[in-house]
Amino acid sequence: MANATVMKSRAVLRPIEPGNSAMCAHCGAPVKFVARAQLKQVIANVYKDGQWDRVEHYHADCYDEASKPYGDPA
Ligand SMILES: [Zn+2]
Repeated sequence: MANATVMKSRAVLRPIEPGNSAMCAHCGAPVKFVARAQLKQVIANVYKDGQWDRVEHYHADCYDEASKPYGDPA
């Protein structure tokens, strides 16, 4: 039986929440909540060789600038 469940890196678009302290993997600045700004972040689950490796955070704009390394965010 073919293994059709190879885990791949993927990205999702989420609102930035208060208390978020992740650093952007593209520009290196904190992905910070700003009141009234409705900022978005991209959270990517990165898989290496079919195994989960790490989570990367991006500012939504930075993710576009980085040419969407993990595909279009869901
Ligand atoms: Zn950034």
